[in-house]
Amino acid sequence: MTTTEKTATANPAATPGYQKALAWLRSGPKRLLIGGQWVDARSGKTFEVIDPSTEQSLTSVAEADSADVDAAVLAARRAFEAPSWSGISPHARTRLLLNIAQAVEENAHELAVLETLDMGAPLAACVARVAQVAEIFRYYAGWPTKIFGTTNPMDASRFQYMLREPMGVCGLINAWNVPLVMAANKIAPALVCGNTAILKPAEQAPLTTLRLAELIEQVGLPPGVLNVVPGYGATAGAAIAAHPDIDKVAFTGSTAVGRQILQASTVNMKKVTLELGGKSPNIVFPDADIDRALAVAVDTFCRNSGQICSAGTRLFVHESLLEQATEQVLRTAATFKVGSPFDAQTKLGPLISQRQMERVLSYVDAGKSQGARLALGGSRVGGVGYFVEPTVFSPVSNAMTIAQEEIFGPVLSIIPFTDEDDAVFKGNDTQYGLAAAVWTRDASRAHRVARALKAGRVWINTYAEGDPVMSFGGYKQSGYGREGGAESIEAYTQTKSVLMRL
Ligand code: NAD
Repeated sequence: MTTTEKTATANPAATPGYQKALAWLRSGPKRLLIGGQWVDARSGKTFEVIDPSTEQSLTSVAEADSADVDAAVLAARRAFEAPSWSGISPHARTRLLLNIAQAVEENAHELAVLETLDMGAPLAACVARVAQVAEIFRYYAGWPTKIFGTTNPMDASRFQYMLREPMGVCGLINAWNVPLVMAANKIAPALVCGNTAILKPAEQAPLTTLRLAELIEQVGLPPGVLNVVPGYGATAGAAIAAHPDIDKVAFTGSTAVGRQILQASTVNMKKVTLELGGKSPNIVFPDADIDRALAVAVDTFCRNSGQICSAGTRLFVHESLLEQATEQVLRTAATFKVGSPFDAQTKLGPLISQRQMERVLSYVDAGKSQGARLALGGSRVGGVGYFVEPTVFSPVSNAMTIAQEEIFGPVLSIIPFTDEDDAVFKGNDTQYGLAAAVWTRDASRAHRVARALKAGRVWINTYAEGDPVMSFGGYKQSGYGREGGAESIEAYTQTKSVLMRL
């Protein structure tokens, strides 16, 4: 069997948590969470959630539209004003978040299996994500007692201080590629800052967000503090973006939709943060640990089958290394197994949908027709499930479509550079600026290049490492504002200056 044939050895049923996940899926259609109640959509509509590995329906989910968003906003507004939420001590908020982290860990296997079924990432990756989710809740659990205001210097006749207060009702809209982590990254800071929230998971993969919301409800969050309204972007999502009684929107998704969210937000001057697309440069200098750099380069473009906003999809190598680097990348990528995400050997599960698979394959055609050399892969694997081979083009010119547009699939462009200036120029020569990496043993060059790259996150001699303390967000068209670490506390609060004449 070649590595890109789908493996048939996986036995999902034997996976820890699988039976619990199955029982949850079979426990009935999934509903909306509004005001502490699990309810059907007002329209009565539902939609099917498809397992991208099998193309079979996993379950049906209530489909929210603007009427449900209105109800959720009303519930969130009431909860925001209620003393049961606005009046509780910071210590109580800390305890709530710690309890959520514990509930996540106690249900870790089930959540990981559900995430794998829902969006197709290999189980080991989903197990790691669930651990990350618990860490995010624990990290933010430390914040409520540390959200300080200030007292400011004044003359003796006046007393002036600044309060840091919640934004109010927050609309949270997420993509499907790492749903649980994205949900945690928004829910945790929104709640510790005292806001209430309406969360819309992506229609392609809403299940783990719904299960997480059940766990959060069970730790005793007051009704209406967290509302969840799965549904489509053009209806439920657009209703959130344009709602006159939502104070802040936090969005993760494509740059095109981010632009629409920003425009819609002007209706009531919502505060907005946007986490958008990327086309991140991964730059390898000849003095780097080449073997490690290239091994990580393959890992990063294949991770989550390339469906990662910060994926290193443009690998820049010094021209003297082009042949060797291409050969090494091909050799490693060719060993990466495509197949069942429940098989421990699998590196690449399916893409999220037929549409996404077709989109990725159309970029392969664009690369070929513009004269890039297809060095590996480029095809669908099997006839069921949305599996695509690791695909490498080398050499590629940075001006080509495949080097400029976000493909969101396992497609790498290898691009030669002549010197440091050329590497930085080409690295920056895109509309995006989400992430970047530089590999070198020269510390001065490492920091010089890190400073010159226009990206919200830069790695030196590594890729894709993160921590809840780190902020994340985009330069240029990759984003608007920041999430993560202390910057989320700023993003979910606003300040008030108070002056008293003595
Ligand atoms: P998308 O923009 O199509 O959808 C994202 C979310 O927005 C979904 O919930 C969708 O229903 C909703 N939506 C769609 N149209 C809407 C509208 N008109 N109004 C309001 N909401 C609407 O993106 P996607 O295909 O789900 O996700 C992939 C994209 O997300 C990629 O571009 C990727 O780079 C980006 N992403 C960015 C980050 C980051 O942190 N920067 C993280 C993950 C994904």
